[in-house]
Amino acid sequence: MKSLKENFQKAHIVIIGSGIIGKFNALELSELGFKVTIIDPTQLQNSSNAALGLLMGNMYQKRRGRGWDLRKQSIQLWPQWITFLQKFNCKLNIEKPLIHLTTNEEKFKKLEKFINENNDLNLQILDRDSIFINNINKAFQTKNIKGMISFKDGRINALSLLKTLDKYLKHKKVNFLKEEIIKIRKSNNQWISKTRNNENIRSDMVILCNSLKAVDLIDSLSHNIKLKPVLGQAMEININDEEVDLLSLPKQFNINGKNIITKSKNKLIIGSTDEYSTKPEENTFEKLTNFLDKKPNWLIKGKISKKWFGIRSRPDGEPSPIMKNLEDGLIICTGFYKNGILLAPACSKWVANEIKNYLS
Ligand SMILES: Cc1cc2nc3c(=O)[nH]c(=O)nc-3n(C[C@H](O)[C@H](O)[C@H](O)COP(=O)(O)OP(=O)(O)OC[C@H]3O[C@@H](n4cnc5c(N)ncnc54)[C@H](O)[C@@H]3O)c2cc1C
Repeated sequence: MKSLKENFQKAHIVIIGSGIIGKFNALELSELGFKVTIIDPTQLQNSSNAALGLLMGNMYQKRRGRGWDLRKQSIQLWPQWITFLQKFNCKLNIEKPLIHLTTNEEKFKKLEKFINENNDLNLQILDRDSIFINNINKAFQTKNIKGMISFKDGRINALSLLKTLDKYLKHKKVNFLKEEIIKIRKSNNQWISKTRNNENIRSDMVILCNSLKAVDLIDSLSHNIKLKPVLGQAMEININDEEVDLLSLPKQFNINGKNIITKSKNKLIIGSTDEYSTKPEENTFEKLTNFLDKKPNWLIKGKISKKWFGIRSRPDGEPSPIMKNLEDGLIICTGFYKNGILLAPACSKWVANEIKNYLS
């Protein structure tokens, strides 16, 4: 039997899909010494490029089960990966803290209970007189906003992260094919991925990271995996109003489920919606700005300077995400309809362990 090291050096792994999940798997597996090929026809038009990059790990209110285990692992892995990736982009960073706010008394009570029970110094209820609450109330002209601060959660700029991963993968000479895979099959212990241009790419293993389209490549009779498309929309708004200085707000926060990123004195980003749809709608502005009973005037008058969307895959009939070893040499990582950026390190660690077990 060959040694693990020999198997690693020889094995060729094809990753189908180059969103954050595909690229992060490529990073982890390249570091382990595998020969990796990523295949994707349109690497810029995916949901990863649309993501706001909020990493809501510690503030996740369920402290047990698979969802928490994956988050916990990612929370531990992110600082190590940031240090590693800073060799390729010294500005890559996780901007902290993250603030979670609500005007709903019941939801706030749940938050209080969560914080009291967890005894985690990195999570705190915001004092009514704190500078954060004062500034938010002033800007949004509200009185009833309450919430918590998580000193260890934050935001990574998703586009910058993807570009940094590209830089790393280029440096590692990871093969990138701009092709669409239309079929995969196994022949003589090897996987053959067929491109739309009729090219056959052979590999020892295939990892499906192509979100919704992953189900088109697997045998639906043997693997009962169902995914639904979830549209997420976001926008950048320009404020032309002397009354509000957006820089007085926290850099990243969430009010009643809408994520807000302050970009400058007069620009902010709001996201994202969740609809079972594939087509962006016209009323994005209303959908994204109706998170309070009454909108402040500056927000009503705000102008959209950019808007974008992404289509994510949500598992139907099982929890998100789907990370499974389907058959010898075939792994699927899909269904990251939320938190794909946050969970990418935990996903790639799981994939690496599965591959180590398979090859040893
Ligand atoms: C507006 C918005 C805001 C979000 N904000 C956050 C956030 O703040 N924090 C967070 O953690 N997550 C956030 N998300 C969720 C996050 O974007 C997703 O969880 C994540 O991007 C999923 O990544 P993925 O790699 O699975 O899929 P994708 O990024 O969609 O990548 C799939 C890739 O597969 C390729 N592909 C498809 N079919 C084939 C084929 N046959 N052959 C080859 N390639 C193929 C596609 O071209 C695509 O590039 C947000 C999403 C949206 C839309």
